Amino acid sequence: MRIAERVTFGGSGLNRAAELRRDPQALAAALDRGGVLPVWRGKPLIAGNAAGWVPAGHPVLAHAGTMVFLGIDDGVPRFAADISDWSPEAGAEAVEAGFFDPSVQRHPALDEGFGFAELRGVMTELSARDAELAATAKAVLHWHRSHAFCATCGARSEPAQGGWQRDCAACGAHHFPRTDPVVIMLVTRGNSVLLGRSPAWPEGMYSLLAGFVEPGETLEAAVRREVFEEAGIRCGEVGYLASQPWPFPASLMFGARAEALDEAITVDPQELEHALWVTREEMVAVMAGLHPVIKPARRGAIAHFILENWLADRLD
Ligand SMILES: [Zn+2]
Repeated sequence: MRIAERVTFGGSGLNRAAELRRDPQALAAALDRGGVLPVWRGKPLIAGNAAGWVPAGHPVLAHAGTMVFLGIDDGVPRFAADISDWSPEAGAEAVEAGFFDPSVQRHPALDEGFGFAELRGVMTELSARDAELAATAKAVLHWHRSHAFCATCGARSEPAQGGWQRDCAACGAHHFPRTDPVVIMLVTRGNSVLLGRSPAWPEGMYSLLAGFVEPGETLEAAVRREVFEEAGIRCGEVGYLASQPWPFPASLMFGARAEALDEAITVDPQELEHALWVTREEMVAVMAGLHPVIKPARRGAIAHFILENWLADRLD
């Protein structure tokens, strides 16, 4: 797909300057002249429609834990810091339950224009560069929070290499940030596309089927297995469309297209609440928000991107 990288989080060509990661002195000097993106419990600091950069030493970083070097952005070194130990004032906590947390937390050391916000809510407003930086920050810091102990021996491990590695002093093991591959597929039959919905989703929301790739599986095999497991439909030819880093919390989405060999749907109720074939004409109404029942996937998600470009005939 020629326009694959136009997807949200599609990459901005950030110079990650990996050679600096192994040079603590150079990293310290870079931090002095760079900017830091504070991330609070998975929510990056946002200022309007941009990432909220602060200088090293800013009071908002008083609770900073792990620091990660993200790269060099137009000559400016960029870092991310986990400030999850900070507690907002009572009543301003994040909404823990539910599909999407619309709350924004303000920090007393920052003016009103800054707030910690869920990345899903602002991802389409950020520049491609800020989107890449914020997604990277969120994903790597989540990995540090969830992998504090060595998977080999259980001892506490320590960040290394500018935050791109964790080392275990007890057994010598090195650990690297995880990215979990997920396939998400445009399954078509003639003029129709297969959509499904999970029970936990907001009412009326339908999207492309998706699932984690298993060890020992190709992407193509994962597409065929997931579609058969979830909807009872066999797929023929499978082709690659586009990919999207999806830091909720640690996925890499592989967008694929597949031709269905069957029409009759048999839903696995453990995985899906409902699945159905939607014609191209109906899909136009869905994407325009005019369909009486079906609501589309969120703008910014690769499902929305693929469906929009399928309708516009831009999958080549
Ligand atoms: Zn160990």
